[in-house]
Amino acid sequence: MKFAITSKGDSKSNTLMHKMRTYLLDFNLEYDEDQPDIVVSVGGDGTLLYAFHRYKNRLDKTAFVGVHTGHLGFYADWTPDEIEKLVIALAKTPFQIVEYPLLESIVRYQHGGRETRYLALNESTVKSVEGTLVMDVEIRGQHFETFRGDGLCMSTPSGSTAYNKALGGAIIHPAIDALQLAEMASINNRVFRTVGSPLILPAHHTCMLKPVNNVDFQITVDHLTLLHKDVKSIQYRVADEKIRFARFRPFPFWKRVHDSFISN
Ligand code: NAP
Ligand code: MN
Repeated sequence: MKFAITSKGDSKSNTLMHKMRTYLLDFNLEYDEDQPDIVVSVGGDGTLLYAFHRYKNRLDKTAFVGVHTGHLGFYADWTPDEIEKLVIALAKTPFQIVEYPLLESIVRYQHGGRETRYLALNESTVKSVEGTLVMDVEIRGQHFETFRGDGLCMSTPSGSTAYNKALGGAIIHPAIDALQLAEMASINNRVFRTVGSPLILPAHHTCMLKPVNNVDFQITVDHLTLLHKDVKSIQYRVADEKIRFARFRPFPFWKRVHDSFISN
């Protein structure tokens, strides 16, 4: 089995990375940064987001596991003092895999039929570059509303505890194949109207955002922010691909929610 380790880059994470690497090599696992079967991310949830984007072109071949060197994370749910246990479990393959849904977004442009496809593990957000964001929101080809406000956030179930939660979205269990659209400060008065509640879309329900006047947007995909000019539409749906996590011990999602947000 081939492995790679990504670190947040601070000294604590780097030390742990080197220690795990030595242990895993001692167990005769092979280090392969380009084509790993397993990627260990050491740091926080943000570190696992980076690891996901680095290996997103081989999701069917690479499984992920996260160790947190700061606070407990949703993706990084192993503690530094558990790494011996983790190394032994890794060396004794095969391990169990759990799959989480991902978000596919396709940005299409006004000219030339050009399009760009992105995969997100947490979410994609859209904000205007200047002034209020105005977007027609279509669901399954039907006009749903015209949104006016700060922005829109489409999140995955595992991303529902991140930005989506700060926007008043629901927490969705990652066993549910769904996406959630949450509003950022919509303008609601006698003239402008949006539904106000977060919407949860099942797999295969496409949501399309179409510009009303401005065509330049700031679009995020997880930690990445890009300026997109001359946008014709942004299409969201549950991706065909999934992220695969290596699972070595039970740590139920609702316990992670409890330990992260209530107490631990
Ligand atoms: P960051 O600014 O360091 O991340 C913000 C916080 O979100 C960190 O505490 C991070 O945990 C945590 N986080 C990331 N994914 C999570 C998840 N699935 N569930 C619960 N918490 C999660 O930037 P980053 O580390 O590169 O993460 C990018 C993410 O930040 C974006 O995908 C977005 O979800 C989130 N964000 C949130 C807001 C907001 O809540 N208002 C605004 C912008 C972006 P770690 O410290 O363990 O990395
Ligand atoms: Mn972070």
